[in-house]
Amino acid sequence: MAARKKTTGKSQKRTISWWQPLLLGSLAVLLVIGGFLWGTRATDRAISFGGLPTVPPPGTNPTVAPTELATPPPATAPPVTEIVTIAPTAPPTPETNPPTTALPSTPPIYDPIFPPPTLPPGLAQPSPGARVLVPSLGEGVVIYQGKTGLNQVALTFDSGWLFEPTAALLQVLAEYHVQATFFTRGGWVDAQPELTRMIKEGGHEIGNHSYTHESQPSLSDEDMRWELRRTRDALGQVVGETQSYYRPPYGEYNDRDVALAGEEGYRFTVMWSVDSIDWMEPGEEVILQRVGYNLQDGGIALMHVGVWQTPNILPQVITTLRERGLEPVPLSHILDWSLFTPVEIVVVPGDTWESIARAYNIDLRGLLELNGILVAR
Ligand SMILES: [Zn+2]
Repeated sequence: MAARKKTTGKSQKRTISWWQPLLLGSLAVLLVIGGFLWGTRATDRAISFGGLPTVPPPGTNPTVAPTELATPPPATAPPVTEIVTIAPTAPPTPETNPPTTALPSTPPIYDPIFPPPTLPPGLAQPSPGARVLVPSLGEGVVIYQGKTGLNQVALTFDSGWLFEPTAALLQVLAEYHVQATFFTRGGWVDAQPELTRMIKEGGHEIGNHSYTHESQPSLSDEDMRWELRRTRDALGQVVGETQSYYRPPYGEYNDRDVALAGEEGYRFTVMWSVDSIDWMEPGEEVILQRVGYNLQDGGIALMHVGVWQTPNILPQVITTLRERGLEPVPLSHILDWSLFTPVEIVVVPGDTWESIARAYNIDLRGLLELNGILVAR
């Protein structure tokens, strides 16, 4: 104990040399000068940013510099955002050499049942090595109209609870050789399987109008997914397919709904350019005026299943549209797939237009149009 104390005392005595107070003094002077300089520069920085507080206000991204915030986003998306390629020299491993590059690495969370694609006769399959544009998977967009310049319009019919005039409506559409688009509530499909089958047999397209017709923005993510999936299952059981269209009940949607529908395979949240408000039974002349005369090139008309005034006036609506040079077509004919982020993939042996369309959740017509192989007309 005593020996240790002695040693320590000796050691302390040894380390305190004449130059140590001088060194400590110099360090103190340097700290004072450094602190002064730092303070000056910090003040300069604050002044150059207009005296902004160092803590960003809520909602701002602290990592984004003010100049970046002021830069507007590019007007047009780059033509290619992602290239899926297989290097020919790469060793074949399951990760880098799947059976086909057209198959997405991340499949859609839930795969809707699409109508079986039919290839136009005489069209060659894409050759291995060719590059094909596909729409980015899982994306959702909202549309109020289709492509213009084609002199085509889409007649859409929502079904809620009423059903009685459906057969009459289908009869008019058949007589006038019109293929339309129906948005059926899943509960309606379950209650009216025979009418649902008649819609399909009439060559019409069928989209998703939720299951319960609840206003979807008020639902949780889980509940909205359930609505879409339950209706998809109902349609799958009755007619074996559904289109990638979602019509929100009451036309009420938010960004979450559009994105969630896209994730569920319902890429297009379909609104309308003309509302017939036929469910209020405004009078047949009013419906004729609203749809027959007001609908424009590329327009989408909202009508309903379940109102007698609609099939009663539909012959005149169709005739008026045709007199105005507008042809009613299914929605798929006027959809603009270039609204989605384009992704370029490389074709490998075994890929077909059909397999690519299915893998990327796009209808065949859309895929061929996106690649300039089929020109919309
Ligand atoms: Zn509805």
